[in-house]
Amino acid sequence: MAAQRPKKILIVEDEPEIAQLVKHYLEKEGFHLCIAQSGIEGQKLVASEHPDLVILDLMLPEMDGLEVCKSIRQKPETALLPILMLTAKNEESDTIVGLELGADDYVAKPFSPKTLVARVKALFRRLERTTDHKPTSLIYGPLQMDLVRHEVTVKEKEVSLTAKEFGLLEHFLRHPGRVLTRDMLLNAVWGYDYHGMTRTVDVHVRRLKVKVPFLNKSIMSVKSLGYKLLDQPLLQ
Ligand code: CA
Repeated sequence: MAAQRPKKILIVEDEPEIAQLVKHYLEKEGFHLCIAQSGIEGQKLVASEHPDLVILDLMLPEMDGLEVCKSIRQKPETALLPILMLTAKNEESDTIVGLELGADDYVAKPFSPKTLVARVKALFRRLERTTDHKPTSLIYGPLQMDLVRHEVTVKEKEVSLTAKEFGLLEHFLRHPGRVLTRDMLLNAVWGYDYHGMTRTVDVHVRRLKVKVPFLNKSIMSVKSLGYKLLDQPLLQ
């Protein structure tokens, strides 16, 4: 087995004690860490250090965590970079906005290092599950997508999809729990990136939801960015 490169984690946190604590515990687990003390520095290090995951504090000087999160998601090269937000208890509404802007998870301060390490590992596991294997079929609740036969069934009943609807659904199923921007979907399914076309994505998502009604609640709109398929389907 080839030795895996250690995963690199960027912490964006202006409180040095917290940053050092996080660094200490994650280094013990074999991760490589770098620290940014402001949102702007964080943005720079995302571009220069190519981290595998970002731990992002919400309250930062100059540029806050929400803005950093949004800027990471808007750039195609970092749009899928996992983000774990650090929040304070009284920032609940910001936490929700953060998740809508595409943070993958959050940990509320004060947190135990154990909890943080567990959440980081869970995020990496989730990522490997969705990117490492090349399946011949994808399953989501009652839905099964056969990638060889190009067939979709819901509760074993075949659903007839157009090629683009199929491609769109496949892309969602391959990236559950991730925010997918309209540009990313356009690139992945239509194979080009043309701004005037992003409405096309909305139209196709809408049609997909009509043909597979249970996806209605499971494919969420993400404010001003795009869409996200929930990790687990909402069947009610
Ligand atoms: Ca802070």
